Amino acid sequence: MNIHEYQAKQVLAKYKVPTPKGFPAFTVEEAEKAAKDLGGSVWVVKAQIHAGGRGKAGGVKVVKSLDDVKKEAKRLLGSTLVTHQTGPEGKVVNRLYIEEASNIAKEYYLGALVDRANSRVTFMASSEGGVEIEEVAHKHPEKIITVSVDPATGIQGCHARKLAYGIGLSGDKVKEFSKFVFALYNAFVGTDSSMFEINPLVETKEGNFIALDAKINFDDNALFRHPDLEALRDESEEEPLEARAGKSGLSYVKMDGTIGCMVNGAGLAMATMDIIKLYGAEPANFLDVGGGATKEKVTEAFKIILSDKNVKGILVNIFGGIMRCDIIAEGIIAAAKEVSIKVPLVVRLEGTNVEKGKEILAKSGLAITSADNLADAADKAVKAIKKKAA
Ligand code: GDP
Ligand code: MN
Repeated sequence: MNIHEYQAKQVLAKYKVPTPKGFPAFTVEEAEKAAKDLGGSVWVVKAQIHAGGRGKAGGVKVVKSLDDVKKEAKRLLGSTLVTHQTGPEGKVVNRLYIEEASNIAKEYYLGALVDRANSRVTFMASSEGGVEIEEVAHKHPEKIITVSVDPATGIQGCHARKLAYGIGLSGDKVKEFSKFVFALYNAFVGTDSSMFEINPLVETKEGNFIALDAKINFDDNALFRHPDLEALRDESEEEPLEARAGKSGLSYVKMDGTIGCMVNGAGLAMATMDIIKLYGAEPANFLDVGGGATKEKVTEAFKIILSDKNVKGILVNIFGGIMRCDIIAEGIIAAAKEVSIKVPLVVRLEGTNVEKGKEILAKSGLAITSADNLADAADKAVKAIKKKAA
């Protein structure tokens, strides 16, 4: 689960990670009040969307008067910001963050993630902050320093020092930077996060290290331990179909193709997507209905697949292990009656009660194409959408 920058900074502040002072604002009036409450004479008006690259897209403005705070707030609120991370459709700005400005001496990059290759929290640091880290990784891989922390020892001075020296710090700055790294590690572990990105982490002219930007991604599987973090969810930032699927216990990821997939098991779902591509079409989604899908769940899955206007055909690929094929067949029929499926529907069932399942489908009177194996199913689904398009 992702959260906004201002929320991430609030979470980090609880763990004593230094962040600039600021207030969120949902209206121009709130933006002005935030600036007044912060005091001073320079502020940063920042669009809050779940995407980076805001700076280049005009979503981060340093301003020097209350009038300009208002002007920028008015311009940004309700506008659509298109950055290299939002896709061409962009994201609507509904929230702002008004922050005190910082005296930047230098911008660094500091990220943390769970490295699945070595099962450790791994930090990545670079002296090249503020820019896209992907670009640094591509052009100057030697400028990214990586340090993995053994969970048995937790973070140690040597880890922080290696990062500090690696980005070119020396003397007292090493100590200051290390404090930041320790606090960040505690925040990462304490919130069961899967990814942090502080870009830029700045050294100020006063010699402090502060998180000027913050991106946090929590591990969804641990969210049940953190109701306070779960409450930070902003549904308006999430793909509506994905949010709806999540509520029904369906794992759904929307994609750009035309063949909607309904499959049980993540591995089988991925194999199904691969074979659709192999036969010359693109999957419209990943959808795992899970092991114990009910008729209601299957119906909801159909509705979700059909809500995607790009879907030109549906491929159902179910292996009845825990799940029985006759239940699936009944679910398909119930769903078809409720939502009227107008696109070609190819069904491949295998496993427990497969004969009974096929019989139920055959007797339903619905226009369902039955397939005998995965290749046959993909072939039939792709041919069906191409025939329709022709
Ligand atoms: P992003 O573009 O979405 O990653 O947004 P950031 O929060 O990283 O802001 C982009 C850039 O704006 C930063 O790299 C800074 O150079 C600049 N910026 C952000 N806050 C301040 C500030 O308080 N003072 C100054 N001078 N620049 C800032
Ligand atoms: Mn940034």
